[in-house]
Amino acid sequence: EQTVVLITGCSSGIGLSLAVRLASDPAKMYKVYATMRNLAKKERLLDCVKGLHKDTLDILQMDITDQGSILDARDRVREKRVNILVCNAGVGLMGPLEAQSLATMRQILEVNLLGTISTIQAFLPGMKAQGHGRILVTGSIGGLQGLPFNEVYCASKFAVEGACESLAILLQHFNIHVSLIECGPVNTDFLDNLQRAEPGDSSLQQVDAHTRSLYDTYLQHCGMVFQNAAQDTEDIVKVFLDAIQSSNPAFRYYTNNALLPLSSPKISALDGSQYIRTMSKIIFSTNGKEEQK
Ligand code: NAD
Repeated sequence: EQTVVLITGCSSGIGLSLAVRLASDPAKMYKVYATMRNLAKKERLLDCVKGLHKDTLDILQMDITDQGSILDARDRVREKRVNILVCNAGVGLMGPLEAQSLATMRQILEVNLLGTISTIQAFLPGMKAQGHGRILVTGSIGGLQGLPFNEVYCASKFAVEGACESLAILLQHFNIHVSLIECGPVNTDFLDNLQRAEPGDSSLQQVDAHTRSLYDTYLQHCGMVFQNAAQDTEDIVKVFLDAIQSSNPAFRYYTNNALLPLSSPKISALDGSQYIRTMSKIIFSTNGKEEQK
């Protein structure tokens, strides 16, 4: 019997790569329901699987901010069961907090937080009834530690951590495992897709000069981090496979060990001061030159 996997956000990036990898399994172990908000974007996925996977891949429309769309997709799963749910869809938001509109902030929380939670909600009764299940969530370093100019994104990803950790405790009693695959920077469309305050934006022009200069420095830092440390989606997929193939999966998997040292100042000084100092130094002192106040 095939393992039925439903993945959100498969038109690009991590979701696409994971769908392709599982649908191309030589033993045809998986039946993948690759879902995406906009079916017009399915060509990229189809190109990657080259039409060879009729019995291992189905593409479904699913907008995770639309409950009707989530339930429709769920009801289209022919096997009437999902063994593994992968909540992967998400969007970024970058820029000074004062430059963000309420509508934009709401949109980020709608997708990353409520979208993820309502997807899980829709599949829980089925998993509980079948007596087993896996819920894998694409997590982010931004869900584990604060990052300047990413306040709302981090808020959404921290919130996902809270929801998943809470669920994981309960779902033990139903043989349902929840795992977060915590990613650092990954080479995907994420940076292109994220909403970012750009130099010409009027909302950014209204922000004070000191913040704008720090934002410039942050963007340079961010560019450097992506250049030096970004992983390919295949690296992320390997970690997903570890979690999928483990008989007793961990709650958190880290895709990039290089980023782990950053969590130690958080844990060693629980008042938070050390993390904030360390991070500020790392981000705002480019070329060893500290930003002058
Ligand atoms: P991506 O932009 O290529 O993929 C995100 C996908 O989510 C896109 O296909 C997009 O269409 C989809 N999506 C957005 N809103 C949606 C909605 N309402 N309904 C359904 N789908 C929707 O970027 P990615 O890097 O592959 O992102 C996947 C996940 O990885 C996200 O949750 C992101 O937060 C997380 N992540 C990415 C990075 C990174 O550096 N790329 C780092 C840490 C975590």
